[in-house]
Amino acid sequence: MSLPQENRFQAIISHAKEYGFVFQSSEIYDGLSAVYDYGPYGSELKKNIRDYWWKSMTQMHENIVGIDAAIFMHPTTWKASGHVDNFSDPMIDNKDSKKRYRVDHLIEAYVEKLKAAGKTDEAGSLLATMDALLAKDDFATLKQIIETNKISCSISGTCNWTDIRQFNLMFSTQLGSVAGEAETIYLRPETAQGIFVNFLNVQKTARLKIPFGIAQVGKAFRNEIVARQFIFRMREFEQMEMQFFIRPGSQKEWYEYWKEERLKWHLSLGTPAEKYRFHNHTKLAHYADAALDIEYDFPIGFKEVEGIHSRTDFDLSNHQKYSGKKLTYFDTEINQHYVPYVIETSIGLDRMFLLILSQSYDEEKWIKDDGKEDSRVVMHIPEKIAPIKLAVLPLLKKDGLPEIAREIINVCRPYFRCFYEEKDAIGKRYRRQDAIGTPFCVTVDHQTKEDGTVTLRYRDSMKQERIHKSDIKDKLLNLLLF
Ligand code: ATP
Repeated sequence: MSLPQENRFQAIISHAKEYGFVFQSSEIYDGLSAVYDYGPYGSELKKNIRDYWWKSMTQMHENIVGIDAAIFMHPTTWKASGHVDNFSDPMIDNKDSKKRYRVDHLIEAYVEKLKAAGKTDEAGSLLATMDALLAKDDFATLKQIIETNKISCSISGTCNWTDIRQFNLMFSTQLGSVAGEAETIYLRPETAQGIFVNFLNVQKTARLKIPFGIAQVGKAFRNEIVARQFIFRMREFEQMEMQFFIRPGSQKEWYEYWKEERLKWHLSLGTPAEKYRFHNHTKLAHYADAALDIEYDFPIGFKEVEGIHSRTDFDLSNHQKYSGKKLTYFDTEINQHYVPYVIETSIGLDRMFLLILSQSYDEEKWIKDDGKEDSRVVMHIPEKIAPIKLAVLPLLKKDGLPEIAREIINVCRPYFRCFYEEKDAIGKRYRRQDAIGTPFCVTVDHQTKEDGTVTLRYRDSMKQERIHKSDIKDKLLNLLLF
């Protein structure tokens, strides 16, 4: 059954809370805006997505290794990377409501209204004009556009706007406890710089030859202004980034390679190709010579889930300049020293999590054989990343059935996450597992005592089959293969 998109998004958010996937941070104190905590099934799912990315990047690529760099870095890092001067978004404040907006988001929301009113040509041309003006940092004309279109604040309803200004997104704090001697440092706004400053340490110790990659997963922090839309845009979030170091001049070829390779990764989770699209950037970040977003059709529309950036030698050259340390590589094949170029793949773990929730959530209704209606909420989470892989359910709490169920769990749990439950009718227990996305349930009944077989029930088709209890582990391991 398909729900209207807005309702669907709200339903997903409620479901995520009710079933222990995502909670508002510090909820008992009314929460902290744009900060979220992951519950029992959420943390499990998040870990599985992280592991799936990590494995496909490192284990499946001989020339990619991982690191785990600190969140705090020397403050000069952020001077060199350009974040102190450039990591900002153009913002505008409504003088009446005092609410601050990101200019592109304000105009985009208006464009959506135009589209909804059938004015698609006008919407398209406004978007193109906005992109061109943002690319030139022409804030005066952008403000005029907001005023002539009478784009208003959603709270005050007025068009009483300040000038457009840049707002830096980095959080800062003090290192050291003695006031006055303290030094301002930043919470990293991206994990990439931890990779760049370690480039030579990693290349030398892992004895890597170009082309090679360094992967990292970790927290990043951004003082986002427009912080709504659940875990889509958070102030504390996790990134999974890979920097691929290449010979200068080969960036176009590697950019194409990683663009396709990353889309394949997304599709390997079973999401249909039409739910994805590429969006090429017209306004390039200060470090890039080409960039695109991989966008997914979220219930809130097509939005970025991953960025592919051709970062040139911007970062390494600047770190070389600011640190005074050489960051060149000697390429024995061509007998040359050079600062490598970099292709970056950068995906938000939390956004990928939201993508999986959005893609998996379904409310199904059907007519049973007896003519009555039945329904369920089911999460069709890809089997290999599901929080719980197998639920083992004794039909009754007696007659030795729980003992057999426990034996099955003992055999399976070293290999994948299992769940035991004996409370409530079996149908109710199946529904609870459907709601958290458990792909397989095994029911132990009286026949199990006679011939050793159990009922294996598949989440998606709800089909059931009898298999021998000693075959469960291997059958599931096959189905869950990477
Ligand atoms: P956006 O345009 O949505 O602000 P961005 O282009 O600034 O994103 P990048 O700097 O390319 O994002 O970061 C790479 C990835 O990190 C994004 O594709 C996204 O998945 C994730 N990401 C960025 N900012 C956030 C955030 N505030 N909350 C959650 N994930 C984020």
